[in-house]
Amino acid sequence: MLLLRASDQKPIKLQLRRDLVRSIKRGHSWVYADALRATPPAQPGTTAILLDNRGGREIARGYYDPKGAIALRVCTTQRGEVLTDLWAVKRMQRAQALRQNLFDADTTAYRLFNGEGDGLPGLICDIYADAAVLKLDGEAARGFWHVEGIVEWLVDNLGLRLVYERLRDADHRGRSLFGPEPDTPVHFLEYGLPFTADLVRGQKTGFFLDQRGNRRRIQKYVSSKKVLNLFGYTGGFSVYAGVAGAAHVTTVDSAQPALDVSEVHWSLNNLPPEQHTAIHADAFEFLETAIGNHKSWDVTILDPPSFAPSKKVLPQALKAYTKLIAAGASVTNPNGILAVGSCSSHVTLNDFMSAIEEGISVAKRTATTLGIHSQPADHPAPLTMPEFRYLKFVILRVDA
Ligand code: SAH
Repeated sequence: MLLLRASDQKPIKLQLRRDLVRSIKRGHSWVYADALRATPPAQPGTTAILLDNRGGREIARGYYDPKGAIALRVCTTQRGEVLTDLWAVKRMQRAQALRQNLFDADTTAYRLFNGEGDGLPGLICDIYADAAVLKLDGEAARGFWHVEGIVEWLVDNLGLRLVYERLRDADHRGRSLFGPEPDTPVHFLEYGLPFTADLVRGQKTGFFLDQRGNRRRIQKYVSSKKVLNLFGYTGGFSVYAGVAGAAHVTTVDSAQPALDVSEVHWSLNNLPPEQHTAIHADAFEFLETAIGNHKSWDVTILDPPSFAPSKKVLPQALKAYTKLIAAGASVTNPNGILAVGSCSSHVTLNDFMSAIEEGISVAKRTATTLGIHSQPADHPAPLTMPEFRYLKFVILRVDA
């Protein structure tokens, strides 16, 4: 089995211009191009030895992207460790062992490889029952990882029926790497609840696996309550609320195909159809209208897409969060629950808490923090790379 394309090549040498040795040794695995003395031409994904900025001592090995802002992704800082198939197998086995501890037969969809968070830079793999979805982060990752070999490893170790690769470019959604094309949604369980994921057309790899723990958290607050799930996608939070005894759930999303699936998921979980309403709308406009009509709910969930795809737009993003939270609080009954998520890695928890504080104040309400949460353990993050702890999920009681 061949897991790395470049395992037989001689690594190139790159030298630091700045003293980043401490940060790299502590586990930060990105080296930006401007931190290197030179970025010589080479194939993207070529293995590289990183030398320190002083005596040229070897400090790490990884793979190189001559054109990218992140010029080197560090794979190991262990002295003498070379990047071979054996190295890759050890990392993949460690990732698999972690998930074996985390999940039983009740949860059959999870992230198996979370890139840098599993010491597998640029390699993402989500499992949906007997199907896997691979995602490689950029050209260098494609040059480094040998996709066909990884597929073979996955099929051998997990007994899969199919492996599909999601591609970033808009013309090609993806391609089949093993087994049939997943042209119908794949069925899986999450904490025993049946769901489906469209691996080809769905957002992300088909489902927002990173909100699993938070979906379960809101169940404590919904019994006999009226719930509003904004940015509801295929109804993940809605179904959890229904199963936990919510009196009624409204799911709002701007994507009609996702909303249709929210109805499918509702009935798949044997919930009464009259207790769910799916509304195709822009969430901001929906809230404005609801405020105008004096509508309110006991539990409001806001799980918007990333408002800050880059650092540059951070100020606008924080304003959008503030506006959204103010509107969400305005439609939440006194002593009701407001749960709000942010999946943008550029928004720190502190920034987000400030936006929440501001939003609650704009709505002329006060609130109590009941919980501050993040992503589940199958989305691990290197300790020293806070940008990998991208998910924030705050549960509040809107007091008065
Ligand atoms: N909470 C969901 C994931 C939400 S992802 C879950 O647990 O599965 C964000 C969703 O917001 C997507 O489904 C997207 O279609 C939707 N969306 C994006 N912009 C929107 C807008 N302006 N109004 C309503 N929905 C929007």
